[in-house]
Amino acid sequence: MGYEAVIGLEVHAQLLTESKLFCRCSTRFGSEPNTQVCPVCLGMPGSLPVLNARAVEYALRMALAVGCRINPASVFARKNYFYPDLPKGYQISQYEQPLAEAGHVEIEAEGGGLKKVGITRIHMEEDAGKLLHGEAAGSDTSSFVDLNRTGVPLIEIVSEPDISSPAEAAAYLKELRDILVYLEICDGNMEEGSFRCDANVSVRPEGSAGLGTKTELKNLNSFKFIKDAVAYEIERQIEVIEDGGRVVQETRLFDVSRGVTVSMRSKEQAHDYRYFPDPDLLPLAVGDAMVDEVRSSLPELPADKRRRFVEQYSLPAYDASVLASQRQLADWYEACVKLCGEPKLASNWVMGELLRLLKEENLSITDAPATPRMLAELIGLVKNGTISGKIAKGVFEEAFRTGRSPKAIVESRGLTQISDEADLERIVDEAVKADPESAARYRAGKTKLLGYFVGQVMKATRGRANPQVVNRLVKRRLEED
Ligand code: ADP
Ligand code: ZN
Ligand code: MG
Repeated sequence: MGYEAVIGLEVHAQLLTESKLFCRCSTRFGSEPNTQVCPVCLGMPGSLPVLNARAVEYALRMALAVGCRINPASVFARKNYFYPDLPKGYQISQYEQPLAEAGHVEIEAEGGGLKKVGITRIHMEEDAGKLLHGEAAGSDTSSFVDLNRTGVPLIEIVSEPDISSPAEAAAYLKELRDILVYLEICDGNMEEGSFRCDANVSVRPEGSAGLGTKTELKNLNSFKFIKDAVAYEIERQIEVIEDGGRVVQETRLFDVSRGVTVSMRSKEQAHDYRYFPDPDLLPLAVGDAMVDEVRSSLPELPADKRRRFVEQYSLPAYDASVLASQRQLADWYEACVKLCGEPKLASNWVMGELLRLLKEENLSITDAPATPRMLAELIGLVKNGTISGKIAKGVFEEAFRTGRSPKAIVESRGLTQISDEADLERIVDEAVKADPESAARYRAGKTKLLGYFVGQVMKATRGRANPQVVNRLVKRRLEED
């Protein structure tokens, strides 16, 4: 019997506000421990939370970007539990009435084509602090508590169990992260924990409608870990069932070094948290005017940009998805196309050389010395035959590193393509004369040697000869006598 996987993801995204959700403490990452705290985020008796309006606006941006319905009133609740990273003894979250519900995103399905993944809800909540153990604490005997992160605003994005494979889980997460970064409300940094994901996984007999018992996977802080952990967990559950056992509902931790998931604790139930509305906070009212204002401020989103790139520039879907994955990269590309009028050539250069060099230099597109004008100029030089495509690569690399214009580089380094037949004829003649033996073998039928002679001419001109012209001339010369 075959099995199919059912996956639902819970994503926590840290919002890029200057201050925390209910107090004025800074949200800056990487400061000295416990320097960004106050009575409110430390949960001192008598302190009162005041909601950060910017955080609400950011949460609304995401909710609208993924087509959620906004609830006119949502309620902050206390989620009670004891843990050393939670000084108040409860986390302020939204429970029964979240900010937004019933949205979706589109991803590429495992078997090709597009697939909708439903978003159950998006709610606002505050982050907890950070515990440092072992190596991170620099001590074998003590653990440390850093409360700088306590009270930093998060949104939790809960998906429907619509995801069917590790690859789809990764595609969904990438889409969510791209949207958050497009909206400029989250930096999407998984290593620093500003974009975190828990994965709920179950399996069921292929084609059946019900849901199997799920486990929840934690500690997934890279796309690779998510794919590996989910894949491992699917196999593990199938094995448990085939051995006649039953999957236990529990929380499991991904052990990175061994590539396996291990049981952490039995799954807590909602009633364990004794949720109740926070009496210190009014219900959050979001009126139509605010919704309209935020909606009208949204940028073009990745999915719309992809569709437009395919239509407007006749690009393959793959090109469109690479170019549209980052807003600034897409802008850079479009600026270049405007200048050179060559959408596919520009796409090849951006996806190939530009991204390669950015990666090599560990630069983001906004910090790159290369400008859209430089690439447009370079494409023009290849198009009008001034330089060969091969020489162009080197010129682009130099332009990228130095910021000099391709024209200036070509001129100062004498890289202009040689297309003049008389000049080339002379070099072809020399190459053939230099190796009469090969020339004779060519004439005896070993026509593959054409490439060898073309290579000799390219070498003699340091790659500057126009390859089409050289090809024609070599052939003519060899077949001449
Ligand atoms: P819980 O009450 O355990 O928090 P929820 O119903 O709130 O569970 O769902 C939490 C997440 O788990 C959601 O993303 C949801 O899509 C996913 N989920 C729910 N049931 C299953 C299941 N049987 N298999 C896989 N994922 C599931
Ligand atoms: Zn504070
Ligand atoms: Mg739940």
